[in-house]
Amino acid sequence: MNKNSQRMRVGKYELGRTLGEGTFAKVKFAKNLETGQSVAIKVLDKDKILKHKMVQQIKREISTMKLVKHPYIVQLLEVMASKTKIYIVLEYVTGGGLFDKIPENLLVDANGNLKISDFGFSALSQQCRADGLLHTTCGTPNYVAPEVINDKGYHGSTADLWSCGGILFVLMAGYLPFNGYKKINRPGFTCRSFFSAGARRLIMGILDPNPKTRITTEKIYQNNWFKKEYSPPKFEKDLDINLDDIDAVFSESTDYMVTEEKDIMPPAMIAFELLSLSWPQNESRFTSTKPANEIISTIEKAAKPSGFNVFEVAPSLHMVQLRKKGEDTQEYHSFFGDLSKGLNDIVWTPPKDRNSSTVK
Ligand code: ADP
Ligand code: MG
Repeated sequence: MNKNSQRMRVGKYELGRTLGEGTFAKVKFAKNLETGQSVAIKVLDKDKILKHKMVQQIKREISTMKLVKHPYIVQLLEVMASKTKIYIVLEYVTGGGLFDKIPENLLVDANGNLKISDFGFSALSQQCRADGLLHTTCGTPNYVAPEVINDKGYHGSTADLWSCGGILFVLMAGYLPFNGYKKINRPGFTCRSFFSAGARRLIMGILDPNPKTRITTEKIYQNNWFKKEYSPPKFEKDLDINLDDIDAVFSESTDYMVTEEKDIMPPAMIAFELLSLSWPQNESRFTSTKPANEIISTIEKAAKPSGFNVFEVAPSLHMVQLRKKGEDTQEYHSFFGDLSKGLNDIVWTPPKDRNSSTVK
């Protein structure tokens, strides 16, 4: 049996291939069966999250994604939960990752825009202490600003600028300016010879280990190298955002749980669908999950068989094929009609419009 033909359905989504894998999550391609929209679904194991005391972090990750509506940030569409899993439905970004590993949490969309996909190590401004600074050590290691590691508190936005500088450097040089936590305190990174003077100046201004003298966002917007061919992102209208659904997903309540259906379509049936097997004039087929002997005895009871075959197409699925031997098509159709009526109990039809609920 081909493993790929097993389909998993979660709520109104049909899961497909794995797009990527992280420490706590598997990201799957999926299709919204109601709208046909392609999405990416991050699947998290509830047990694993609890065991590693990650609830707050994951909650924050999802909340951040929901709160930030930005054209260059992957959009969170909805969250769902089952007894054992949490499903984060995201906008699907087609272009794949930016380089294989560096920078690993940036994706490229069909228009070549960069999109941030991962807020696993994010901090929200509400986490600021009385000193007005963040103290959470977070961020993707190779891109973390020195003040974040030094643990004396830092301004989130200034530290983010540093990370952007790191990404800009990688985009231009093809490798990291610094490697790992230890080295970034040293001023010893070098721009490549082909960096223009303007680019060099900007990167040096951003990758300034001292957050107090680091270039500001305002200054970057005025920078000539930055302004060249820069088109500002277009924001969508601000919609009201609330985080009730995220709370619901992490609560014990089963009221809003989504349904998971595995293997709703036996592999053989998928093959038939793919081949879009037409029903020939002189043949009629149906499928059944009942054992062959039960199928045959039911058929025998339902009608005097005028010639039929039953064969196994999958361990749990049999296909019955009736072949018209005579010439009278009319008679055959009325025979098949009568037969079908008598077979209602054993015929299996692929579920198409099963209703499923999602967390609101
Ligand atoms: P983790 O937090 O476990 O690192 P990520 O959010 O970084 O998970 O996702 C892991 C991988 O899954 C990404 O590197 C990327 O290849 C893929 N991926 C994540 N989100 C999307 C998306 N919205 N569209 C397409 N692929 C994605
Ligand atoms: Mg990641």
